[in-house]
Amino acid sequence: MNYFPVFFDLTGQKVLVVGGGEVALRKVSLLERTGALITLVAPQVAPDLHARAAAGTLQLAVREFLPDDLEGARLVIVATSRRAVNRWIATLSESRNIPVNVVDDREASRFIVPAIVDRDPVLVAVSTGGTSPVLARRLRERLEAMIPQKIGELAVWLRALRAATRRSLRGVDERRRFFEAVVDGPAARRFVAGDTQGARRIVQQLLATKSRSRPTAGEVTLVGAGPGDPELLTLKALRALQDADVILHDRLVPAGVLELARRDAERICVGKAAGNIGSTQDEINALLIAHAKQGKRVVRLKGGDPFIFGRGGEELQALAAAQINFSVVPGITAATGCAAYAGIPLTHRDYAHSVTFVTGHGQERDGDPGSGPDWRGLARPGTTAVFYMGLARLDHIVQKLRQHGASPLRPAGLIAQGTTANQRVVTATLGTIHDASRNAGLESPALLVVGDVVALHSSLAWFSSDPATDLSQTA
Ligand code: SAH
Repeated sequence: MNYFPVFFDLTGQKVLVVGGGEVALRKVSLLERTGALITLVAPQVAPDLHARAAAGTLQLAVREFLPDDLEGARLVIVATSRRAVNRWIATLSESRNIPVNVVDDREASRFIVPAIVDRDPVLVAVSTGGTSPVLARRLRERLEAMIPQKIGELAVWLRALRAATRRSLRGVDERRRFFEAVVDGPAARRFVAGDTQGARRIVQQLLATKSRSRPTAGEVTLVGAGPGDPELLTLKALRALQDADVILHDRLVPAGVLELARRDAERICVGKAAGNIGSTQDEINALLIAHAKQGKRVVRLKGGDPFIFGRGGEELQALAAAQINFSVVPGITAATGCAAYAGIPLTHRDYAHSVTFVTGHGQERDGDPGSGPDWRGLARPGTTAVFYMGLARLDHIVQKLRQHGASPLRPAGLIAQGTTANQRVVTATLGTIHDASRNAGLESPALLVVGDVVALHSSLAWFSSDPATDLSQTA
């Protein structure tokens, strides 16, 4: 982050504006609404500015800028048409530690002024770090369209409600829940639609039921985080993350996904990683139950889809036994996510009529032909097999498929860190995948895909995972 966003209280503070043209006028119009004491210095001044000075909102000095003008200023905005003058004033301001903005001169500016959506007291500020004013404006326009006109009035009403309910809603959690019910529910919808009476009625009802009910029981939402790219989250997953009190997540869950969670949600990594005192499944179940029993909204976040090699079923069984409420938000599993980003359609009318997801971990018990995967079925032509957790057991898998009749020429591919900026795809055949994988030095997590569809990668790959290349293309 190259800028630190702040909202500055300028009430009664001196702000110096240097320059008397259109740009200065625009800045003055904004500043006026903050209650700042504006001083404007310029040898020539637009008529509008004279009018404002006459109305008393502005102190006007119609002359050249003098260094003493900086005295007592909390902010300086420089907007003369002379670049050298602008820079000189900027340097003077800097030497006195007064934050300065030079319009259209990012380098000379200590702070930049964002594009804003103003729904006083709600204020949304947009910055592109000075890279593109057009982009900032477009973003602002979209936000303008999205944010209801009455959101500011809603904020004022919520502030009043906060004061009015301080006694009746005691716990922090209870208060937050109440306000979430107001903001997310029909009360706020009616309010911004103009039906303030209806909104008040709903709030009265909410308060009445709250005071009668016992502390709410917690619940667990089992959420699929997808394979890596945070934008592959579902809207429901995002909602659950933003409502969570506690998040228990696996090691495989991408950092970018966790960043989307409610800021003060407690995050607990229960991943079974080396170096991490990994939790056993029983410990994880116990943690889920304990947090839910405290009335918390618990999110159990798993990579990919929770029901695919994620032990989600086992956790739900434990919750069901403990009579804890739960729900499930599916995620994009590694097979579908990685295949999509690698340009490998898992089925195709010409090449594969079925696809099987297999764990490469599955242990065959000696002498028990019924245990382990159905190798004969996986080796059959016209089908695709996707092996999760297969990298470490690659040779074993290839050997088993070959033993059950798969040709050494059957296409096979590995997708490592799929859907992320580090995605690597290596395609070969069952006969050559061992060497290809070794040469590429792939890092887990990785998926092994076996079947004729893998050959389509060479013509259907579309996802360029090299961030350097991406940048040069957009420059
Ligand atoms: N529940 C998860 C799978 C957990 S098992 C899901 O539905 O995706 C973990 C295995 O998933 C890893 O060993 C690897 O084989 C695969 N995997 C998960 N994320 C992956 C990714 N981004 N790229 C490649 N493989 C991945």
